[in-house]
Amino acid sequence: MPRPILATIHIDSMKHNLALAKSKSPGAKAWGVLKANGYGHGLERAMRGFADADGLALIEVDNAVKLRELGWKKPILLLEGFFSPSDLHTMAGYDLQAAVHCKEQLAWLEDAAPQLSARGIRFDLHLKMNTGMNRLGFMPEAFAAAHARLSAISCVGSITLMTHFANADDVDHPLLPIAEQIRRFELGAAGLPGKRSLSNSAGVLLHHEHLQNDWVRPGIMLYGGTPGGGTAEAFGLQPAMTLSSEIIGVQDLAAGEVVGYGSRFQATGPMRIGVVACGYADGYPRVAPLGTPVLVDGVRTRLVGRVSMDMLTVDLTDLPQAQIGSKVVLWGQGLPIDEVAEAAGTIGYELMCALTLRVPVVEG
Ligand code: PLP
Repeated sequence: MPRPILATIHIDSMKHNLALAKSKSPGAKAWGVLKANGYGHGLERAMRGFADADGLALIEVDNAVKLRELGWKKPILLLEGFFSPSDLHTMAGYDLQAAVHCKEQLAWLEDAAPQLSARGIRFDLHLKMNTGMNRLGFMPEAFAAAHARLSAISCVGSITLMTHFANADDVDHPLLPIAEQIRRFELGAAGLPGKRSLSNSAGVLLHHEHLQNDWVRPGIMLYGGTPGGGTAEAFGLQPAMTLSSEIIGVQDLAAGEVVGYGSRFQATGPMRIGVVACGYADGYPRVAPLGTPVLVDGVRTRLVGRVSMDMLTVDLTDLPQAQIGSKVVLWGQGLPIDEVAEAAGTIGYELMCALTLRVPVVEG
């Protein structure tokens, strides 16, 4: 018998969530963002879940190639662009689009252009503006010059104007509200031709009425997680991953007994503890505190004691019927990943991506 831990990927939920993203972005095309191994769900599975997307977007050049080998025919976008001049040849070979966010990339394109143009290669590119996030992109005041330089390169086809929001889930952010990023974008893009690509999940879910997008780039919402600003249920999102396990041990404790490494939890009265086959080596956050929600046989209970490498412990005092073999859900159907993430002081994104290789994955 294998250890009873399992990640179940719900492809139909991905389809549902994509349809929701599209319905909230009328008139726009949608990239399905599947970087980081489809946010931990598996590249190929995410590709199938997003079959109705207008394109797929990711970071990793090798996975972009894999998507083509898996048969994806529609556009593919490299969200961080190309990392070296040699990537341009991969992009040419596999018909990949890419973001352009710095002068070095412009120079690499200029250098490679004669050779690529001679082969009839033309890239569709996405010029990225830094509207305040201060990771990648040209400043608004340098954007028109970057656009002119990019337009003049012979192997460049279409140029989409792109930016990325830092706080689309928090309209009243005191330092960088989305309205300020939009203002900077409009300033930098004024008078420039090209389609526009602004929204991530938070943009799609919370700002679709007043954002003009030709392409949207939802990620987390397609997996049923939220970017913040509301619950999955309120947004109508369905979880695409359920992490489940079983009770593999039960202990009856007297008042005063302690649980786990560091003896972080002490029973204040008689209680029953269940041991679950899931630990931080499976991707469950070690920092999850006492009280983090867990489902046992469909009933909510709470984490007690420290999460260890292979096990965690839950309170079964009010679940007298629970026993070895009882089904446990750590997150997913019946227990939103965002609730677990919030308890652990992180975000659903991180939990999904942190699932480790030793967890068997099935579809269902
Ligand atoms: N667009 C870009 C450029 C990104 O880097 C990301 C992810 O961080 C996304 C879109 C998708 O964001 P989210 O998962 O919040 O929808």
